[in-house]
Amino acid sequence: MQSHYDILIVGAGHGGASLALNLRQRRFAGSIGVVSDESCGPYERPPLSKDFLSGARTFDEIQFRAPAVWEAQSIDLLQGKRAISLDAEQHELYLEDGSRLGYGSLVWATGGRARRLDCPGSEVAGIHSIRSRADVDALRVDLEHASNVVVIGAGYVGLESAATLKSLGKSVTVLESLPRVLARVTGPELSSFMQGLHSDRGVKVVPNAAVEGFDSRTGRLCAIRLADGRRFEAQVAIVGIGILPNVEVLVEAGAKATNGVHVDAQCRTTLPDVYAIGDCALHPNRFSNAGVVRLESVQNAMDQAATVSRVLSGEAAAYDTIPWFWSQQFDCRLQTAGLLHGYDTSVVRGDPKSGAFSVIYTLQGRVVALDCVNSGRDFIQGKHLVMKGVVADVETLASTAIELKSLVA
Ligand code: FAD
Repeated sequence: MQSHYDILIVGAGHGGASLALNLRQRRFAGSIGVVSDESCGPYERPPLSKDFLSGARTFDEIQFRAPAVWEAQSIDLLQGKRAISLDAEQHELYLEDGSRLGYGSLVWATGGRARRLDCPGSEVAGIHSIRSRADVDALRVDLEHASNVVVIGAGYVGLESAATLKSLGKSVTVLESLPRVLARVTGPELSSFMQGLHSDRGVKVVPNAAVEGFDSRTGRLCAIRLADGRRFEAQVAIVGIGILPNVEVLVEAGAKATNGVHVDAQCRTTLPDVYAIGDCALHPNRFSNAGVVRLESVQNAMDQAATVSRVLSGEAAAYDTIPWFWSQQFDCRLQTAGLLHGYDTSVVRGDPKSGAFSVIYTLQGRVVALDCVNSGRDFIQGKHLVMKGVVADVETLASTAIELKSLVA
């Protein structure tokens, strides 16, 4: 470990690790250090609720690169080290182990941590969240002795975990406080399809479920209680109710932050020579009706890493990419493009009963977003409709005889 790096990256997730590799691809010759509070090398996070949780892929198979690659690329991975404070004027970062690192440019890529349910019993053994490899390792130990699992929160991570655990033969119940699954990210048509998919495969989905507390027996979880008196027995609960961006260190150092640290189109924070990327960064985005957004997706982390890599290499660059995302639940591959921040019309293209269809969302006739279920072609072609703000009528968008690419001028 050096005492000074030309570029110091905090966080070795999708954003931080890909930035380091990207800089070397651009032939950046200066020193690069990557501080990570995890004790293992950089890995893909999406499999944590899918193939890695099921055991279909091992840790080696979800690593970004073989361990030797980092050394070969002269990238110093500083593992098991947590950044705890920053002196932005002096360009110095302080780690929990007492060491101090100087830098030329600092890139904050710390993602977020799982939100906890703050209610009686939330400290008992058997309650988990899924954000890191260590989380899944601990969860898998508890699952060995669990037949009933309750998932709290029907967002992407919750539903993916439910699908994976059902496939492993567990009895799975999903509790969602809102009236429908995926309510924060999609429209009623897709929610209804996804809820049906899970119910058909034997997952019990309970909407309007307000968790009041956790019951325990000899210190371990035995049931989840709802405010309306219902009670669900389970040995394991997975709480998937979103994340909180890890930006406290930057805030204490004086950075402007609200829901994430504020960055400009070059991913610069308000602190000198400090950038931020990925899940922790609230950035300008023309696809958001608020003008700014904090995204939680691999696409965003990787594309912002690419932007900063170009900026630090002295190129003119600005982040301007359409948001997209994917999810895998049972045999259903969902791909989304654009942001559902306001639409007046939704068009169902194809027959949901066939298991392959898309929902296209428009605002005053302009395509603003798509949800594509097992419809990769619609996703690839439809992205361009969102990027170009194509205006199309409902009949045209609904007709599967018309390819979406033909609507792009
Ligand atoms: P992360 O990948 O979270 O990396 C941040 C790193 O910083 C972590 O290693 C963290 O431990 C470390 N860190 C935090 N604070 C400090 C500190 N103070 N000092 C040192 N290190 C620190 N996205 C998709 O697009 N498709 C999917 O299917 C999908 N599935 C997902 C499934 C799960 C279970 C999860 C958790 C996420 C999923 N995502 C998915 C989201 C995607 O993984 C994230 O958007 C992406 O990982 C964000 O990258 P990042 O670099 O911003 O943060």
